[in-house]
Amino acid sequence: MPTKAYAAQSPTSPLAPHAIERRQPRATDVEIDILYCGVCHSDLHFARNEWGFTQYPVVPGHEILGRVVRVGAGVTKFKVGDLASVGCLVDSCRTCAHCTQGLEQYCTGGATFTYNGEDKHLGGMTFGGYSEKVVVDEAFTLKVPTNLDPAAAAPLLCAGITTWSPLKHWKAGPGKKVGIVGLGGLGHMGVKFARALGAHTVLFTTSPSKVADGLRLGAHEVVLSKDEAAMAKHAGSFDLIIDTVSADHSLDALMALVKLDGTMCMVGVPPAPQQIAAFSVILPRRNLAGSGIGGIGETQEMLDFCGVHGIACDIELIRMDEINTAYERMLRQDVKYRFVIDMASLKG
Ligand code: NAP
Ligand code: ZN
Ligand code: ZN
Repeated sequence: MPTKAYAAQSPTSPLAPHAIERRQPRATDVEIDILYCGVCHSDLHFARNEWGFTQYPVVPGHEILGRVVRVGAGVTKFKVGDLASVGCLVDSCRTCAHCTQGLEQYCTGGATFTYNGEDKHLGGMTFGGYSEKVVVDEAFTLKVPTNLDPAAAAPLLCAGITTWSPLKHWKAGPGKKVGIVGLGGLGHMGVKFARALGAHTVLFTTSPSKVADGLRLGAHEVVLSKDEAAMAKHAGSFDLIIDTVSADHSLDALMALVKLDGTMCMVGVPPAPQQIAAFSVILPRRNLAGSGIGGIGETQEMLDFCGVHGIACDIELIRMDEINTAYERMLRQDVKYRFVIDMASLKG
């Protein structure tokens, strides 16, 4: 099916209209008319080949929410008219030790990512949600709580699950002190989730203008990470720190805040390798970890939690043709706190 999309053709070309092909739905596929797609910083890293493995043209977008318009004969979870969402994964081997534990994102056979992944049906690469529609196996399609604003729910599919998964894995909850570093798309969901899970929640930000929002979003305390005296007050006190920063920064300064046997988990992916001094993890014994998005079951669990607790993202709705400006604003940390594309603007 010919489908309108927005693509980058090279690391330096702005995103622009581009025609792609979607497959006809197979027995277990759902065809989704995309209503909203969130703008993740990973989209920008990919569009500009900042991680070095982008295949062009690339159609970014992995925070997809839309309406089911067609289902294959074997589909049981969805019917035409339902809301449905798709995150960073559209398939995996489904049989390896990780897939069978619900950790499809770590599939040893190679998960198929929503864009810039190998398209096993049409050949070439997969194309993401900056497009009119998408066709995805129902096993990788998520149910959206109907009480949430659909535009504000879309970024849960990446920003939400990427912070939810490590918070749950390292058992953020009552009695735990949790730090979230960076108040962007991921960070603002990290703050909301850490608070909702019952942890003492501290936001670290470089932006004085975000202090009040940090508190409003749920942080018990907000620390300006450039203020060394304020940082020192928290030395050696955190059970868990989740680092969402997308650019070069000091890991040593953050690790100093972690307590004995506590963990600092990187989820942000600065393009350049980040250094850390061995003593930062040695004295006292500390863990440096990482976490990638989340599995399908865990993503549904997170969405259901958001439905029950009325949690969604703080968004600014943009038109598709505003995407290049949105990327520049994201780099200036001028986003509160997630851009979401109104996909009607691509269709019209
Ligand atoms: P974002 O909205 O741009 O937020 C990043 C935040 O990091 C900024 O708002 C800013 O917060 C802080 N920051 C930026 N530059 C900084 C610097 N030089 N020093 C210190 N702080 C800085 O990005 P996002 O969409 O949340 O994504 C964040 C990162 O996570 C990206 O690298 C993205 O690729 C990655 N990611 C990883 C996964 C995964 O599975 N692990 C999934 C999705 C995204 P303040 O203004 O508060 O300082
Ligand atoms: Zn993402
Ligand atoms: Zn697998």
